[in-house]
Amino acid sequence: MRLSSLTGLVGVFITSALAVVSGAGCSRVVKATEIEPVPHPGYADIAPEAARSPEIIGFSHQGRPLVVEMFGCGPVRVYIIGGIHGDETEGRTDLHELRMALAESPLAGELTVRILHDMNPDGTAMKSRGNAADVDLNRNWPAKNFRPARNNETGLSPLSEVETAAAHADITKFDPALILVMHSIRSGPFVNFDGPASEPAAVFAGSAGWRVVPDMGYATPGSMGSYFGRDLGVPILTLEYKRGDESGRVLVQGLNAMAVGNRLQARHKADGPRNVDEVGN
Ligand SMILES: [Zn+2]
Repeated sequence: MRLSSLTGLVGVFITSALAVVSGAGCSRVVKATEIEPVPHPGYADIAPEAARSPEIIGFSHQGRPLVVEMFGCGPVRVYIIGGIHGDETEGRTDLHELRMALAESPLAGELTVRILHDMNPDGTAMKSRGNAADVDLNRNWPAKNFRPARNNETGLSPLSEVETAAAHADITKFDPALILVMHSIRSGPFVNFDGPASEPAAVFAGSAGWRVVPDMGYATPGSMGSYFGRDLGVPILTLEYKRGDESGRVLVQGLNAMAVGNRLQARHKADGPRNVDEVGN
């Protein structure tokens, strides 16, 4: 069953993620025509009323909203971050196409997809890798391999940045079975992964015609992959679009390919301890 062929409507949760986890039904039905494009680049120019997405989980250093949307009603929870490095926006059009597709045919019986549009809207507005404090938000997580860098690109301590702290709280509450984070790199496109994600990475890459690159070739202390993938065992895919090329259209097919055939397993609370307070830094 292909995502594009489904005709069901999607419910968007506007209540808490906890309600989804506990099995509550879809509370609101939307049509694709209701979906506005994510302002690009950044949110600097939008009026307050334009932030019409279901939920704002926090604000950036410069006060831009961190916006999330939820699609679907299924038992398998997928968390997608549309951007973490502000100068890597190549996947934004692809993300919008995914949102449109999910609104029409969300695999509602299989997936619940929670999308954080842009974890670094200040960086996006400035076209900078880091946030407004020049911290790399993919080095600011409470992974065991976190080490504060002298130039402060990691932040002084894990979750020192408002954007990271907000995303950490939201992801932890949502308790996803899979995390996707969108980046770009000159050597792209390819899929990198951490944690028990070799099969989803292979399936996604196969559907996209991308490569799988298990190792980035350089250390990523304090990264999301280190924290969620290696420390907590949550499968996480790093989607590296080709830098400067916005033509990649892979999210809809990739998500569909992973969803069919039970490639993704629903994550249950009984799977193991998720007490993140026990994870050191
Ligand atoms: Zn990146």
